Amino acid sequence: MGNFALFGEKLSHSYSPLLHYMIYKDLGIDSTYSLLEFEKDSLKEYIKKIKEGIINGANVTIPYKVEVMQYVDIIDSNAEKIGAVNTVCLKRNTVFATNTDYYGIEKTLEDTRKDGVYLILGYGGAAKTVLTYLLNNGAKKVYIATRNKYKYISKDNICKFVGYDEISTIKGDVIINTTPVGMSPHCNDNPISHSFDVYNNFKVAFDLIYNPTETEFLKEARKHGLDVRNGLKMLVYQGIKSCEFFLEEKFCVDDMFDKIYPKILDIINGSKKNISLVGMPGCGKSTIGKIVAQRLGFEYVDLDEYIENLEGMCISDIFSTHGETYFREVEERCLKEVLKRDFVVISTGGGSVLRESNRDFLMKHSLVIYLDRSVEDILGDVDVNSRPLLQGNKNRLRELYNQRYRLYEVVSDIRIKNNSSIDKVVNVLLDILKIYKIA
Ligand code: NAP
Repeated sequence: MGNFALFGEKLSHSYSPLLHYMIYKDLGIDSTYSLLEFEKDSLKEYIKKIKEGIINGANVTIPYKVEVMQYVDIIDSNAEKIGAVNTVCLKRNTVFATNTDYYGIEKTLEDTRKDGVYLILGYGGAAKTVLTYLLNNGAKKVYIATRNKYKYISKDNICKFVGYDEISTIKGDVIINTTPVGMSPHCNDNPISHSFDVYNNFKVAFDLIYNPTETEFLKEARKHGLDVRNGLKMLVYQGIKSCEFFLEEKFCVDDMFDKIYPKILDIINGSKKNISLVGMPGCGKSTIGKIVAQRLGFEYVDLDEYIENLEGMCISDIFSTHGETYFREVEERCLKEVLKRDFVVISTGGGSVLRESNRDFLMKHSLVIYLDRSVEDILGDVDVNSRPLLQGNKNRLRELYNQRYRLYEVVSDIRIKNNSSIDKVVNVLLDILKIYKIA
């Protein structure tokens, strides 16, 4: 559907590709989102790639949000007023630019006092957006701490530019870090490390940084009793709004946010340490699972083999001797046992998604990959007589596929079509795992 990208100078910290991957999966569309790092001199050339349709749209980040404005054709009025853009896109041969950070800031600060006193740290592209939001919403006073306050002239009495040596005397409601100080990999830095007293004068601290999820700036604010919030909510909302702009569609933004935010938080916090493969019998889970485990240096567990070892008989015999309900009980117990470990790739049985408790456990303790292979391809190389639930009947496989397809979709973070060579499928999967910062 489109090739989208993030333009910036240093992007290794970025979770935007993951965010966009999640949005495209939620929308059921095939689009790509790449990180394009380059020096300032190349910015014009990259906007030309958008004009030529080589890249369909891009988000723009540090330090190009202001610079990029001179190269686009049309800037919407809010972004023009802000003086910074973060989203550019080709529409009807014209490069349009907008600022969706504004929406992310609005959502993050929606429950804070509107006519309060604010202190913004830093004055770059994102700070300009925060400032416009605060002024649009009736801020009484906004102090802006910059490293060179004399560079700027305030047009009214509401804004006051100050040096960092003056901030400990300021009293207000919300203190907002818009500098990159404290961002991964420089996680020990705090933009106000010499003025911790300032925390005592504020009620809320907002750091636009989301990686790490709690910066030194926020950690210290929390210790001083402030209500703290990071930049993740802003990231997710601005990303969803950027996709609306790219695709010229309206989404249920809050519903999408509710689905994506907890998933991305899990990934950033590193709470998903296992990989589970789900899909129909014969879709390639065991073959691909083994190779992926080896490439990642993870332990590999085939759940059916694990059950067979435990029960001392093959799956077909468990079914014929004890029945399906017994098998499902054992399967649930084994699945939970294996997923309590870390760094495991597990190939699940085709029916393990049938129980809601299994689905919940899979989603909570692993990154779930749905290997989607067509029934015709499966029938091409699976002996239906060797699979207990197929009972030698090809139509039964079609029935099972129709029953289970939705469950595989719902439980999975990633859906991979297994319709080419094993090597290609493994490489596609490993590329996606890189987006998840796992490979
Ligand atoms: P930017 O245009 O480069 O502005 C950053 C500003 O921070 C600079 O203009 C500078 O202001 C100040 N600064 C830079 N280095 C500093 C240092 N070593 N010490 C003190 N101050 C310093 O960047 P931006 O696009 O505004 O982004 C700023 C931050 O917001 C980044 O961490 C970015 O990741 C984050 N952000 C997050 C989201 C999100 O969705 N959560 C969205 C946008 C941005 P002065 O020269 O005036 O001091």
